[in-house]
Amino acid sequence: MKDIFTACGVPFKENEPLANHTSFRIGGPARYLAEPENAVQLASLIGALREKGIRYFVKGNGSNLLAADAGYDGVVIELGVRFAEITVEGNVLTAQAGALLSKIAHTAMEQGLTGLEFAHGIPGSLGGGVFMNAGAYGGELKDVVRTVTYLDSDLQIRTLTGKEAAFVYRGSIFKSHRDWIILSAELELQPGDREAIREQMRDLAARRRDKQPLEYPSAGSTFKRPEGYFAAKLIEDCGLKGLQVGGAQVSEKHSGFVVNKGGATCADVLALCGRICDAVMNTYGVALEREVELLGVEA
Ligand SMILES: Cc1cc2nc3c(=O)[nH]c(=O)nc-3n(C[C@H](O)[C@H](O)[C@H](O)COP(=O)(O)OP(=O)(O)OC[C@H]3O[C@@H](n4cnc5c(N)ncnc54)[C@H](O)[C@@H]3O)c2cc1C
Repeated sequence: MKDIFTACGVPFKENEPLANHTSFRIGGPARYLAEPENAVQLASLIGALREKGIRYFVKGNGSNLLAADAGYDGVVIELGVRFAEITVEGNVLTAQAGALLSKIAHTAMEQGLTGLEFAHGIPGSLGGGVFMNAGAYGGELKDVVRTVTYLDSDLQIRTLTGKEAAFVYRGSIFKSHRDWIILSAELELQPGDREAIREQMRDLAARRRDKQPLEYPSAGSTFKRPEGYFAAKLIEDCGLKGLQVGGAQVSEKHSGFVVNKGGATCADVLALCGRICDAVMNTYGVALEREVELLGVEA
């Protein structure tokens, strides 16, 4: 398989622990972890992998991923720092999929552009953010995305408008077209006061530090917000705060987070999530839906 990476010019690692590439710090080895540097390399790599029938999974910063304990017997493609250009022209900021939302928000602030303050503390990449329609404190990426450029099922480069990206709460058209790969997006922002933007970002960061268990590895909110409820409140009201399975725990600081207290496995997290879902269903009749995406976990 290594000859594929060489032919496509894509840097790669072998038997790379996914725990080192997910914010949960969970996951066995990926047979290969590939780090393409541009869309041409990415398309030729995927074309070659498909031709040989080799499975692959595209990830961003791994901040919304639960990876299998057995790892992934295929190629995990990481769009990261090598795929992270950010440019600004007037009010429009264009970023590649691997650019971090924090860096993008910081760049916008430096350029005196408002609209991305909410995204500063979200530890994902633009690709993962668009895929998930990441949002916080009343803002969502859907509010600012003007276009998304992606590789379609035939590895052709296409562009969708924000409207065509069909953003919904924690979702987009890319969730129902999992073979499409987000390459970049244009974000339409508004002129603003740099100091006011900086202050707003500082304020939101302080609110996060105050409320969220940032001292432990996690994947952020484990469950989506059910219509008419707050997942964290339902979980807390079921008396589950602090409940632990192996190394996975319902955070004592914020019940909406499952945290890795040390040595948690994917199996621990899934078992804990099962217990949470059962309790919330039995007590309140509400079905919780996982927000965290799975990598290599057989459903
Ligand atoms: C401490 C903490 C706080 C968080 N706070 C928030 C928050 O406030 N709001 C919020 O919305 N989320 C939050 N999250 C969750 C997470 O940061 C977001 O969901 C983020 O958008 C995920 O981006 P990522 O690059 O890490 O994606 P990954 O976790 O790498 O991937 C997530 C999904 O996106 C897909 N994907 C990634 N890149 C691409 C691409 N280029 N093309 C196609 N598919 C792709 C992957 O296949 C996967 O299915 C938090 C997480 C943590 C750990």
